[in-house]
Amino acid sequence: MQEYSKYLKKAEDLGAKDAKIIPAKSIVTAEWVKLKCQFGCNCYGRNLTCPPYSPAPEQTSRMIADYEYCLMIHGDRYTGIRNMVSALEREIFLDGFHKAFSMGAGPCKLCDECPEFCKHTEKARPSMEACGIDVFSTVRANGFQIEVLKTTDCKSNYYGVILIE
Ligand code: SF4
Repeated sequence: MQEYSKYLKKAEDLGAKDAKIIPAKSIVTAEWVKLKCQFGCNCYGRNLTCPPYSPAPEQTSRMIADYEYCLMIHGDRYTGIRNMVSALEREIFLDGFHKAFSMGAGPCKLCDECPEFCKHTEKARPSMEACGIDVFSTVRANGFQIEVLKTTDCKSNYYGVILIE
């Protein structure tokens, strides 16, 4: 775990408000999460990083079981969480952690719209919620803050995660 600590500093250098190394088993998945994508988000079926293209909760749960730790990063609406997680994933992978895989927040916005096949597979990653992760329960279990936003003026919190091993 100590060998991952340099990525905390790297995350802060990239603009994260906070970052922690957390146990992978503390990531909570739930079947209801995909319903929030399917009924309530206009990216469902239109963005290649979103359901039904992204991993279902059960698949994500099995995938997370292959890891012991991950780097969780915290930002706000001005933090480029998606770009940050893919950059960190690349750096961690190139350091020799061949299983590094990242998940960000919200649909990929690298292109105006998705064609039939992804144009930037090297950078496009699904969000945690698109993979069936209960982001609220996961971040609270690790000492981070998140609340339901009642208006668009409310202060938002965004999270991303990089599985490392
Ligand atoms: S990189 Fe472009 S094509 Fe790929 S998921 Fe993102 S927006 Fe869609």
